Amino acid sequence: MPELPEVETIKRGLQKQIVGKTIEKIVIKKPNLIKQSQASFRRELVGATFSNIDRIGKLLIFTVTRSRTDADLTWINTDSIQSKIKNSRLKHSNFNQNSKFKLQNSQLYLLIHLKMTGQLVYCDEENFVAGGHANSKKEEEEFLRGKKQEFCKPGRFTHIIFQLKDQHRGKASVLSKLFFNDLRQFGALRVVNQEELREIKNKYGIEPGRPNFTLANFKKALQNRKTTIKALLLNQSIISGLGNIYVDESLFASKIHPQRKANTLTANEQKRLFNAIKRIIKLAIENNGTTFSDFVDSKGERGNFKQKLKVYGRKGQPCLRCCKKQKTNCPYLIQKIKVAGRGTYFCPRCQKI
Ligand SMILES: [Zn+2]
Repeated sequence: MPELPEVETIKRGLQKQIVGKTIEKIVIKKPNLIKQSQASFRRELVGATFSNIDRIGKLLIFTVTRSRTDADLTWINTDSIQSKIKNSRLKHSNFNQNSKFKLQNSQLYLLIHLKMTGQLVYCDEENFVAGGHANSKKEEEEFLRGKKQEFCKPGRFTHIIFQLKDQHRGKASVLSKLFFNDLRQFGALRVVNQEELREIKNKYGIEPGRPNFTLANFKKALQNRKTTIKALLLNQSIISGLGNIYVDESLFASKIHPQRKANTLTANEQKRLFNAIKRIIKLAIENNGTTFSDFVDSKGERGNFKQKLKVYGRKGQPCLRCCKKQKTNCPYLIQKIKVAGRGTYFCPRCQKI
């Protein structure tokens, strides 16, 4: 499942490609992924231009701006004019180019959650960006062998296609496409306004890499929580952006057993864990994440953090900390158990309960 670093990487990759492009057409093959009516989804997006991409936790936030049309003019006015509008005939008067009214582009937000197996693939004649759920090894090899055009066609799991128009290339418009692929179809897309976006953002907890991720706030988040530390770190309303991989890595780095009750961590352990989360997320972002492939401009850049994983996916292998000196026949092996419903890797020797 893509976690914060993976979503951040796809955000950065797409930012360079789709900002400034206008949605010309949307093909919806699986309406169940759209969490609103298809008609309103299309109405709000077709003709709108991507003006920014942001992210909170694992949620991608695409700002779309609709330049003025007769159908959806919005206005900003000085207070005095606004009050006039409320109660005067101005409200009904015809639009006058010379009036004091200023036009404002309307702005909405396309939210995309990749959930378990969602994937975004962008393609045009020169560029290719893919992120989210990992491709199969075979697909990756094909890509690296130069068959990237194969990725630019809708595949079996392509459920939504955004056809984009480039307005900023100084030449005839170049058609480009953004595919939403999703093997298991848990992903979600919807368009919200600013107020709805604010409400959604308020539901997220403190997030590594943001100013609200301070030691004091982290300690507060752990206070009085009797749940396991693993469950707490996975809870997006408390700590935003972490998933299974980075939680296991952070707990290993700070020598904390995943089943420890959150409120029993000592001040020292809290500090170690806080620093580990910050460091690991930063490092994972610098390495383009773990779980996904990211191919930009056919350079073949990909998620490199996999090689840096110390505990995740290492069941039965020697603990890299306890077996530092004893490289052969080391008895301290990584175990896999279930915590908070998730496969959890830890070392029973250096992460004692
Ligand atoms: Zn160990």
